[in-house]
Amino acid sequence: MKLFHLLCPFFFLSLVYGTEKPNMIVIMCDDLGYADVGFNGCKDIPTPHIDSIAENGVRCTSGYVAYSVCGPSRAGFITARYPQRFGFERNPQYQPNDPDMGLTRDEKTIAELLRPVGYHSGIIGKWHLGAHIPTSHPMKRGFDEFYGHLGGGHTYFPEKLTIERSQDAKGESESYRTWLLKNYEPVPPRKYITDDFSDEAVAFVTRNRDWPFFLFLSYNAPHTPLEAADKYLGRFPQIKDKKRQTYAAMVSAVDDGVGRVLAELKKYGLEENTIVAFLSDNGGPTTKNASTNAPLRGNKGDAWEGGFRVPFAIQWRGKLPAGSSYENPVSALDLGATIVALAGAAVSKDKPLDGVNLIPFLNGENKSKPHDTIYLRQFDRNRFAVRNGNEKIIIPWKGAAPQLYDLSNDIGEQKDIAKEKPMRVQELDVLRKKWNDNLMEPTFLGLIHTAAWAKRKRK
Ligand code: CA
Repeated sequence: MKLFHLLCPFFFLSLVYGTEKPNMIVIMCDDLGYADVGFNGCKDIPTPHIDSIAENGVRCTSGYVAYSVCGPSRAGFITARYPQRFGFERNPQYQPNDPDMGLTRDEKTIAELLRPVGYHSGIIGKWHLGAHIPTSHPMKRGFDEFYGHLGGGHTYFPEKLTIERSQDAKGESESYRTWLLKNYEPVPPRKYITDDFSDEAVAFVTRNRDWPFFLFLSYNAPHTPLEAADKYLGRFPQIKDKKRQTYAAMVSAVDDGVGRVLAELKKYGLEENTIVAFLSDNGGPTTKNASTNAPLRGNKGDAWEGGFRVPFAIQWRGKLPAGSSYENPVSALDLGATIVALAGAAVSKDKPLDGVNLIPFLNGENKSKPHDTIYLRQFDRNRFAVRNGNEKIIIPWKGAAPQLYDLSNDIGEQKDIAKEKPMRVQELDVLRKKWNDNLMEPTFLGLIHTAAWAKRKRK
């Protein structure tokens, strides 16, 4: 019997049961507010394409990220593990000569886990997990392709990108002005970078449509600087507040890009074999970029819900119920864990993922919860948040008594019920301590410690 005849039944079965390895596209915005997408009730910024992900799939009302600022949140997402476990608990400085300033090599990225099972992985946009090219570049961390910037933010207009080589930028603010990298090569600036990233994402899908892929489309919008192309600004004459108008235009540019990527999937008949997730990396910094997290309390950086509960939707045509809403807490850590599970990729026993495969929960097969508890620690501020069921304790600073909120009837965290439920406070605090016992201290000095870092280097 020929090999073809032996393989044929497996091919047929895989068609019948849909066991073909699915693709995944994760579209992550930067500093987008909880309330700034249509599917979470936004009225002044139409986001029809982003909303279509929720309409064709599941809107997760309690979607969390692992940290309330960019770097650690992304370190969690990219490893599917709490970043506090491996010392990534600060925003890294832009230090192209420091190999320790970023994601430790002791951890594996999702792209590294997917590679042995035949996935092609790409990242387009913001990296922010280390600027030391020989050790921290995305292609040193399992990605096959990169188009974007290594630092924590970027200026948007091509004429402002005046530093050719990423490694020549000294510090955070200069890093915003580097040319973008295509893999390892600096590329002469071409256009408004949100549109540039969308072009690259469409091309990525076209190029990789015939094999399993993982695409991390990591828009730096709508992170500051607030800069919008006229094409998008012109859509918002009715918004009088200049900051909000520019922010709206930046979000609108992302929405156009999302629409183009989704159209490309449709064009090649890939919708039923591609999971598409959309989220923000942390809550909106409302005064900086005019975002809004209503009805949540707090902003980017906080342990209040507004810091780390984000817009979160996921579609998988034919596999997840269209237009549904899921209330149990889910996490950005689950996205990588989902594709790792579906791809059949191996995970090291001594570094188990904190995320779980969301599909059985979102399609109703598994009626229990993906997570009993969601955790947050901010080492430098001695802050904690622990959500168990619908109740959450928050320790605002070291030594402070925990406050307790019931999110089922107090989503805005207005009424501290710690005194009414001391036993419940204690239970959640025990969970916190147990989790905390498995964490380590931060391994690098972050952005707010730049002066201390420089002093140490001089010694
Ligand atoms: Ca961010």
